[in-house]
Amino acid sequence: MNRKVLITGSTSGIGLGIAEAFAKNGDHIIFNGLEKNGAEIAAEIGNRYGVKTAFKNSNLMTPEGVQELVDFAYTEFGTIDVLVNNAGIQHVSPIEDFPLEKYQQIIALNMNSVFYASRAVLRQMKEQRFGRIINISSVHGIRASEYKSAYVTAKHGVIGLTKVLALEGAAFNVTCNAICPGYVKTPLVEGQIKDQAIFHHMSEEEVIEKVMLKKQAVKSFIPVEKLGEIAVFLSAENAAAVSGSVFTLDGGWSAQ
Ligand code: NAD
Repeated sequence: MNRKVLITGSTSGIGLGIAEAFAKNGDHIIFNGLEKNGAEIAAEIGNRYGVKTAFKNSNLMTPEGVQELVDFAYTEFGTIDVLVNNAGIQHVSPIEDFPLEKYQQIIALNMNSVFYASRAVLRQMKEQRFGRIINISSVHGIRASEYKSAYVTAKHGVIGLTKVLALEGAAFNVTCNAICPGYVKTPLVEGQIKDQAIFHHMSEEEVIEKVMLKKQAVKSFIPVEKLGEIAVFLSAENAAAVSGSVFTLDGGWSAQ
């Protein structure tokens, strides 16, 4: 209750679901994302749950963009108690054709921004002897799939960083954990379904059944509400002993 939560990429998909879970819990939220209606989304959630919200559309591809967002959060709220590093993008291609620009963007946003944001909040979290950093990695942080080289590289990197943050924060009640979802039906995945349908010459329904959910034992998308519940749990004071952990919500994908 009443914690100050900064969530990157929170005006769509998983980030928005996590924001709603924190708002329901009575926490205040700084929203971020590139959606044009980000300010309205933040205001609507604030009104619905009676919590303070604010929105900043910083582009997190650069250290300066990340710093701009963190500075905005401190100006609005004074402190940051919980940081959820969620913003991410995807591009699917064989390595030999992988556009270098796309590779660099995925590494910049999906991995480097997690370092920049965590670095920018850690000192204050240590000083107040409370901090919770939650990194949205992926089942692709612990397993590989062909044609997702940049994404798999970045998401594995995030898990390594999660463990280092857990060690460095340990003496200060600052924890860091990673959540690794399987497929969640969000705009990011809807884009992949369309791309894969073209690539495999299949209908979108066939792609969902035969390609996307092939590796999940549980043949349904992971509900975004479940990710929100785990994030709120990890942010609690009584989750202080949970740090450096990797929470898979992958429908049994990594059980194989
Ligand atoms: P999404 O496309 O619905 O949302 C991504 C958010 O990131 C949006 O708010 C978008 O505006 C923001 N964003 C994109 N580029 C940005 C930039 N340069 N600067 C700032 N914000 C930017 O995607 P999603 O499916 O909700 O994915 C969220 C996270 O969850 C990502 O890190 C993704 O890798 C991860 N994830 C998703 C799935 C899935 O199946 N959807 C599975 C595992 C992990």
